[in-house]
This record gives sequence, structure tokens and C-alpha cells, in this order.
Amino acid sequence: MKERTLAIIKPDAVERGLIGEVIKRLEANDLKIVAMKMVYMNKAQAEGFYAVHTERPFFESLTTFMSSGPAVVMVLEGENVIGRYRELMGATNYKEAAEGTIRREFATDIEKNVVHGSDAPETAAFEISYFFNSFEIVD
Ligand code: GDP
Repeated sequence: MKERTLAIIKPDAVERGLIGEVIKRLEANDLKIVAMKMVYMNKAQAEGFYAVHTERPFFESLTTFMSSGPAVVMVLEGENVIGRYRELMGATNYKEAAEGTIRREFATDIEKNVVHGSDAPETAAFEISYFFNSFEIVD
């Protein structure tokens, strides 16, 4: 099934000069980028994006981190792209992520884990619309 997903190169990765590394892996794995821009979220914007995690103990820290510097947001499109991209990212905790995944290779912390990817079609739809309008997504 053709899907879209929201991908983020998080502030830790932008600061460490890993934008190119992540994009190279997307392209090498045939994950098509149909929208892309840089954003610098403020705290309220990060809280809105992670609203589903409001009750989690790491919510405050996570939203402070996500508003600590610029991030690159992208829309990826393709067959089963949600699962394919999550596979490429690796598990949330980089220590548990499979060899060769982005998080296993580059994450330094369970929170500063380099990349974000939507986990289901419903969350993808919300997350894409949080950053992009329809004119910003290439057909
Ligand atoms: P994801 O879908 O793999 O990004 O994971 P989640 O949706 O569960 O969590 C969202 C983000 O919160 C993760 O990517 C991490 O940046 C952060 N996070 C998850 N679990 C923890 C945790 O136990 N502690 C901290 N500090 N951050 C966490």
C-alpha cells in the first residue's frame, strides 16, 4: 500500500552534521522524499507535536530537546514507507536497535536518537499536516 510518513532529523543530528548522512541512507534505501524543510520549533510547538506523550515522564525533557535547535522535517512516500523507514531508523533505544540502523550507528542517548518517524497511517496524517500544507508536498 502506498503511504506517506513524517521523518525528522532531530536537533542533535543537525548539530552534529548528520543531515547528509541521514538523507544518503533514505535515498540509498529508495525512500522517496516528497517534501522537506528546516524548522526551529519553540517549546509550545514541540509540545503540540508530541501531545500524545503528555503524560510520559520524559515529556518535559523531550520537548525541551526538540525545541533546542533546528530540525529537518520531511515527508517520505512509497509502498509501506512507514514500516520501511522505521526499520531503517531502528528501535527507540539505540542500544536495542539492530546493527546498521541509523539509531544504532549514530544515537547517543534514548532521547537524542537522531531521527523521528511516524508509527501508523493516522499519526502520519496528523504529523504531516502539523508541518506541511498540500502545496508543499510534491505530487
Ligand atoms: P519513537 O516512535 O521510536 O520515536 O519512540 P516514542 O514515540 O516511544 O518516543 C518518542 C521519543 O521520545 C523518542 O524518539 C525519544 O526521543 C524519546 N523517548 C522515548 N523514550 C524515552 C525515555 O525513556 N526517556 C527519554 N528521555 N526520552 C525518551
